[in-house]
This record gives sequence, C-alpha cells and structure tokens, in this order.
Amino acid sequence: MGENPFENAQKQLEKAAKIIGLEPAVHSILREPMRIIDVHFPVKMDSGETRIFNGFRVQYNNARGPCKGGIRFHPAETLDTVKALAAWMTWKCAVANIPYGGGKGGVICNPKELSSTELERISRGYIRAIAQFIGPDKDVPAPDVYTTPQIMAWMLDEYEKIVGGAAPGVITGKPLALGGSAGREDATAQGVVYTIREAVKVLGIELRGAKVAVQGFGNAGSFVATKLSEMGASIVAVSDSRGGIYNENGLAAKDLAKHKEQYGTVLGFAGAKEISNSELLELELDILVPAALENQITGENAGKIKAKIIAEAANGPTTPEADEILFGNKVFVIPDFLCNAGGVTVSYFEWVQNLYGYYWTKEEVFEKLDKIITTAFESSLKAAREHSVDMRMGAYAVAIKRVAEAMKLRGWV
Ligand code: NAD
Repeated sequence: MGENPFENAQKQLEKAAKIIGLEPAVHSILREPMRIIDVHFPVKMDSGETRIFNGFRVQYNNARGPCKGGIRFHPAETLDTVKALAAWMTWKCAVANIPYGGGKGGVICNPKELSSTELERISRGYIRAIAQFIGPDKDVPAPDVYTTPQIMAWMLDEYEKIVGGAAPGVITGKPLALGGSAGREDATAQGVVYTIREAVKVLGIELRGAKVAVQGFGNAGSFVATKLSEMGASIVAVSDSRGGIYNENGLAAKDLAKHKEQYGTVLGFAGAKEISNSELLELELDILVPAALENQITGENAGKIKAKIIAEAANGPTTPEADEILFGNKVFVIPDFLCNAGGVTVSYFEWVQNLYGYYWTKEEVFEKLDKIITTAFESSLKAAREHSVDMRMGAYAVAIKRVAEAMKLRGWV
C-alpha cells in the first residue's frame, strides 16, 4: 500500500487540530487509540492440525458511546491499518452524530484458502478471545473486507453462548433472519448518493446527464453506479482489479452489474472500450467515485484529475499531499468518513432496532438515513466555509469538536 495509513490519519488530525485550535491535551488523547487488544488464538483446521491465528481489536475512543467498527479478515492485515480505520470510524460516527466511538478489528488469515468450517472456527475463536471487551454497550463490531453476514451470525452465536442470553445488539451486519436491518446491503451506496446529490447543488451541476466514473465495481461501487444511473447520470467508466471500461455515451449500469456477476469482471462488456485504472481517474468527468482501495489519488496524479467532484466511497483513497493539490484546483472532495457514513449509520439503526425489538421498513430506514447524511454534509460544508478549508477539514472540525466536547464533559481533560 506504500504509505502508512495510520501516519496519514495522524497527519489529517494534526492539520485539523491546527485549523480549529485544538488544545494540546485533547490532541494527545486523539492521536493514539485508547486500547489495543492483540490476541493469538488456536483453531483446529480440517486436517486435524492446530494453527494459531493473530487478531486485533482497536478501541480508538469511546467518549461518545460504545466503539463501533468492522472486522477484516485479510492475509496482509496490519495493526497500523486497523488503527487508522479505527480512527476514521471515530470521526465518521461523530460527523454523522450517532452515539458511538470508533473501533476496528482484524484477523490475519486468507479466507480464499479456508474451508467454510475453518472460517466458522476462526470466527468463533476470535470472538472467544475478545468477548470480554465487546458488547452492545461496550464495542459493536460489523462486517468489513472479506467478512460477511454469515460470519456475523457465527460471531453472534458464539457471543450469546458466552453471555448466556440473547444479545443481538453486540454485532451488526447480521442476516435479516437474525435481526439484521432492511437496507443494510446498499446503505453505504445510498449514503454516497445523498452526499453527491448535495454536492451537485453546491456546485450548480445538473445530476441528470452528469458524467460519472466509478473506480472499483464491488459492493459499494456497483450500487452507487446503478443508483446514480437511475437518477439520470451517465456512467461513462467503471473498473475493477482487472482493469476498466469506457463508453463516452454511458454504460448501462444494471446490465453491467449482471455482466460482473456472470463473468466476475467488468471487462468484456459489450460496446465499451478498455482503459486502465489510471486513465479512468484522469477522464473528463463531473463526478469521480473511488470505491476500491486506499492511496489511489496521490501527489503524482492529483494534478491530472479533471472531475469537479470526488465522492470518496472508499476509505482513504486520497493522500494528504493530493488533498492540497485538489483544493488548489477547486475540486470538491466529499471525504470518505462523511461520504461512506451510510453503512455505519444503518448499522446504528440495526443496533437501535435490536435494543428496541421493533423493526423498520427499508423506506423508513432510508428516510432516516437521508436526514442524518444530509445534516452531516451541511454541518461539514458550514465548517469548511467558516475556516476557508476543504470539506475533509470541515468534516474533521465538526467531528473533533464533538469528540472533544464529550471528553471534556466527562472530565478527561
Ligand atoms: P468490494 O471488495 O466489494 O469491492 C472492491 C472492488 O474494487 C472490487 O470490484 C475489486 O475488483 C475492485 N478493485 C480492487 N483493486 C482495484 C484496483 N487496483 N483498481 C480498481 N478496482 C479495484 O469492497 P467494498 O465493500 O465495495 O469496499 C470498497 C471500498 O469502500 C473500501 O475502501 C471500503 O473500506 C469502503 N467502504 C465500504 C463499505 C461497505 O459497506 N461496503 C462501507 C464503508 C466503506
């Protein structure tokens, strides 16, 4: 990945701290996670052999409520990535103004090389190792890279066996049959679309006919493309890990989703020509949606970006160096922790429904989501204008002030 994501998170915090004049004591607390849980746990493999797996749970800050954040299963997982993501979760929950702190977890493993029974034993083993540190009122995990609703179901089951009773609010992203929320599947994309709807208003761009490219046609990216296309935007390019496709007159997003499902890639879609991922970023566009990996827009290519809006569906796609260049070139960046907050917001709704024991329709969920995301966008924009900074720093200003206020009220500083 090149750059250290936690260093980038700390750089962003430092920049924001200067802008809002954050007290040094508050800054020092926010620079590091409050607690890191590092576990090694045994798992019986199908062969009969026992292997030891290493997992983490980072509880970054819990001043505003229980920690909240996903669990990643990845062979190249690092504590620094988990720390960075836990920091971003803190800002994400605060900017959305949902009553959570930030957390994140990970297990170093390769789900592609594991059988389903091994995956189940890893999921249960990880929960046994961290069970005393999580709970509906302590820390609430969720799915992330290579973890699924089925994995959440195993984890829930293991946790409930340990505590000896129903506790559906311990984890979100569960299957519907186990207390999941309607709308969770496309919640992130729906939130991205709400922020884009607000950004085009600010810039006076008509969404109908706007040219859009989506880097990363996965869970988040494919729903964003389909939803924007239904609203009249023209999806001119999309890509995945194998490469990209382009059609200046627009690609049929729904057919493309079917094509991707059938062939496992967007390549080979009828009527489109192939382009590279770097060419996609530099196209003549109204809206660019990075929805793949970290560090895609850097000091090297930021100057070549022609899009008017960058909507960061992915976490950490833009480096701090690129931010400066984009701001100078008046590119309107909707920062990741605001842009993709729809996922955690619907996770919050799931937790509320679990605690309440009463469930909402998808329409109710999206109506409530719209209010939260639109309000978060408006407060970030207001702060950005007040301090004459970009939207990332505007969103940071809102989020940090909220976490700082909670810490002060508790008497931590
Ligand atoms: P995903 O695995 O479903 O999709 C990722 C897509 O990116 C895949 O199509 C993959 O082929 C593609 N990709 C990988 N490398 C690429 C490259 N070099 N160039 C172009 N495309 C590439 O994952 P996802 O859940 O859609 O998550 C994508 C991003 O959105 C991540 O940064 C994630 O943290 C963020 N995010 C997702 C959610 C969510 O609810 N899904 C919520 C918040 C943030």
